[in-house]
Order: sequence, then structure tokens, then C-alpha cells
Amino acid sequence: MNPEAIRLLSDLLGPSNLKTALEDRITYAFDASGTRAIPEAVLFPRTREDVPEIVKIAARFGIPITARGAGSGLTGGAVAPSSGMVLDMSCLDRIIRIDPGNLLAEVEPGVVTAELQAAVEREGLFYPPDPASGSFSTIGGNIAENAGGMRAVKYGVTRNYVMGLEVVLASGEVIHTGSKCLKDVVGYDLTTLFVGSEGTLGIITRAILRLLPLPEARRTLLALFPSMSKAAETVPRLFKSRVVPSTLEFMDRVCIEVVSKYLESGFPENAEAVLLIEVDGRRSAVNEEMGEVHRVCKEQGAMEIQTAASESERDVLWRSRRSIHNALRRLRPRWEEEDVSVPIASIPAMIETMEQIRRSHGLLLACFGHVGDGNLHISYVPKDETATDSPRLGRARHDILRAAVDLEGRIAAEHGIGSIKRKEIGWNLDQPTLHLMETVKHLLDPDGIFNPGKIFPGEEAGSHAS
Ligand SMILES: Cc1cc2nc3c(=O)[nH]c(=O)nc-3n(C[C@H](O)[C@H](O)[C@H](O)COP(=O)(O)OP(=O)(O)OC[C@H]3O[C@@H](n4cnc5c(N)ncnc54)[C@H](O)[C@@H]3O)c2cc1C
Repeated sequence: MNPEAIRLLSDLLGPSNLKTALEDRITYAFDASGTRAIPEAVLFPRTREDVPEIVKIAARFGIPITARGAGSGLTGGAVAPSSGMVLDMSCLDRIIRIDPGNLLAEVEPGVVTAELQAAVEREGLFYPPDPASGSFSTIGGNIAENAGGMRAVKYGVTRNYVMGLEVVLASGEVIHTGSKCLKDVVGYDLTTLFVGSEGTLGIITRAILRLLPLPEARRTLLALFPSMSKAAETVPRLFKSRVVPSTLEFMDRVCIEVVSKYLESGFPENAEAVLLIEVDGRRSAVNEEMGEVHRVCKEQGAMEIQTAASESERDVLWRSRRSIHNALRRLRPRWEEEDVSVPIASIPAMIETMEQIRRSHGLLLACFGHVGDGNLHISYVPKDETATDSPRLGRARHDILRAAVDLEGRIAAEHGIGSIKRKEIGWNLDQPTLHLMETVKHLLDPDGIFNPGKIFPGEEAGSHAS
């Protein structure tokens, strides 16, 4: 990196907040995807005011700059090109204010999601977005990816809880979008533009987040079904009986098998699908709704239904869903993973297509996810243990993404495009739409210093090592 830029950054942050040693840079060369690139430097802003100054120096010397939260992203978003620098935002981790009167919180981007959830719950409040990575991912990363999670079926995704943002632009200017008002139509909705922009338009330094009153009670049920179709059909039946669960997760037969072995949990051998269902709200309503969920599952032919009477029993029911990744990894060290969504009524058709792809490509393929909001996670490896069988995996990946698109679905549900899905983005976005997005990117970041090589086809950044 330009020595003058290093000197200016070191003067600004202090030498201990600028790392250029190889061993430090290597630890920032990856995220939770298979993408790898060693950055030139890693920077730790100490205050929000540091960020515009860093950006101005980056812009002056044309150095790419990639913001990073916890690096838990699954599409390579936080991996900087080898000619760029990483801005570790996790140090800006203050919960500035929890405001019960206005049902909102103001936070810095490095706050860990679960820590915010716990802090607002202590005040009787509720921050609903709940990615499975919540115990380590950050609010900044959640906003930049528009993270979803377990409660999206009832409460929506991160976007629905971001009321306003402070953002540092590529010019070093600081802008403020949105407000503390729930109703606000003053100008264009720039807040939404930055939510899900994957660090390509600006660096988020503060967020105003919407909170809800904490539900009085929640109840959890796990039901095992003899077929995937019976489980999938349970979802519209629940909606028909006017129950909107807060969580509606599913696991297919492969997940059941590996999780049973991993946890020695003893699910029935002939179970083909699991639904994990949670309802929340006022205690009386929750009990009534849980009764309805139980009835519908039984009517749909559930072989076994387990309910949780306490928090510790709830943890037991959740353990199988939470263990899927670890259980799969014990079987094989590396799985390809797709994160697609389809309109909710197309879930059974998507699951059926996955069965065909499993057979025609000779794959071990595990399907699980947020069945209530149409989001499927598909993990797959070759059956015959040739872990480097990439052409076959490439063809399977193509067919999985295509199947989602054919059902009017999306190639990315909650993990973003990053560097991994850039080539396929045109499968969902037509040329004029993509062109408009590129124009917006160019307007806000004319020299392309923010997170190059992400979202748009054609740019290179980082290599993908699967
Ligand atoms: C085990 C596991 C489970 C997961 N489960 C879910 C899930 O249920 N739902 C879900 O949606 N995702 C899930 N994810 C993916 C990941 O956790 C989310 O995408 C999360 O939002 C990333 O947050 P992070 O802080 O780790 O961000 P990072 O990975 O560090 O960064 C992600 C993107 O955000 C940008 N960014 C980070 N901070 C800022 C900032 N302050 N300003 C601008 N841009 C910024 C980065 O440049 C990058 O493009 C999971 C990941 C793992 C490993």
C-alpha cells in the first residue's frame, strides 16, 4: 500500500489500530464462505468520526476499502481484494440509546445482534430479526446483508426494523437517512437503498432501529412427519387456520439422519421431515394458537409431536435445528451451500425438484430452512467422497438456482450476492434494472473504492476456494 497513505492512516488511528503484518492480514483474508484474499492492511476505527477521515485517505490514494463486521457472511462480502484494506467495524460497538418511549434503539454498527436483543429484552422490548448467526454477527453486517432469520415469517427481516442510518459516503461526507418517526415520507427512501447494499454504497456508522414490546409468552413444538409433502402442506393449513407462527423451520430426511447421529437424539427412523414451530404473543392467545398448531400437525399425519413446557425444554427442541451445520460437517468437512427463496406456495414444488437434483447428480443433499417464508438452505456434496468433484457440484448448483428462478424465486434469500453469485445476478434482474443499480453505484462511489468485486458481474476481487 502507498507508504504515504499508511503514514496518514497511522497518524490518524495510532499505529496499534493499523495492521500490516502478514500474520494479521491473513486472519482477515476470509469470511464464512470459501472466498479468500489477503488484504494489504486492516484498520480499526476507534470512533465514528474516524471513519470519514479514513475514507477520505482511501479515496485520495484510490485504495479499495471493505467494511467488516464479524466476517460471518456466506457470500464473500467482507473479503477485501488483495490490493485493498479491511475496515474492522466491530470496535464501534456501543448501544448508544434504548428508548422505550419511542420503541427504538440507536446503535453503532459493531454491536453483536444477540447483545442488542438481550439488552432490549431487559427493558421489556424486542428486536425481532434473528439470524442463526446472531450470537456473533453484527448489526452493521445484518443491515448491509438485510439479514433474515428464524422469525421472518411473522416479523419480517432486518429491513423492516431499520428506521434511519448514518452513512459515510465515498467522498467522506456523512449523510443521515430516515428518522425516529414511524411515518416519514420526506424525500426518497434512502434508508432502504443502503439496507442490503453489501457495503458497496457507503459505510454504516450508526443505525436507528425499531423495537416492539416483548411478547408475553412463546411456545415451541417439534413435529415429525412421514413425508416431506405432508410437512410442506402443513404450512398453508396453519395460515388457513389463522395462525402466523413466529418460527416455522423445517429439516428434511438427510438432516434428520445426520442430526440424529450427531445428537444421539433418536428420531424415528421412518421420519422424513421435521417442522419446528413457535408461536408468541399474549399468554392466552399463545396457548390457544399452540393448540391449533398441534391439531393441524396431527391432522396432517404427524407421527410424533413434542412440545416444550420450559425454556430448557425449548432449548432441547431447538438443538436439532441448530446442530445441522455441525452435524453435516462431521460427515464431510466442506459442503456447498445455496440460499434460495421461492414464493411460499411453491415450497413443495421446490423441495420436489431438489429430490430430482439429488438423484440425477448423485449427491448427498440436505434441505432445511425457513419454510414459512419460502427460504431454503441446500447443502450438498458428491456421494462418492470425491470432495473435489467441482464440475458435478457446479452443474448441481446451476440446477438449484435455475429451479428457484423457474418458480419465480430468487437466487439469494438472505446471504446476499457478494462475490459468489455475481455471475447469476442477471437471472433475477433484467438488464435495465441492473444498469440502474450500476448507475446508482457509480453516482455514490465513482472511483469504485467501496467493496469492489461484489454484487455486479465482471469485477474481480478475491478467489473462491471451495
Ligand atoms: C452459522 C451461520 C448461520 C447464519 N445464519 C444466518 C441466518 O439465519 N440469516 C441470515 O440472514 N444470515 C445468516 N448467516 C450469514 C451472516 O451471519 C449474515 O449475513 C450476517 O448479517 C453477517 O454479519 P457480519 O457482522 O458477520 O458481517 P460481515 O460478514 O463482516 O459482512 C457482511 C457484509 O456487510 C458489509 N458490512 C459489514 N459492516 C458494515 C458497515 N458497518 N457498513 C457497511 N457495510 C458493512 C461487509 O462489507 C460485507 O459486504 C449465517 C452465517 C453463519 C456462519
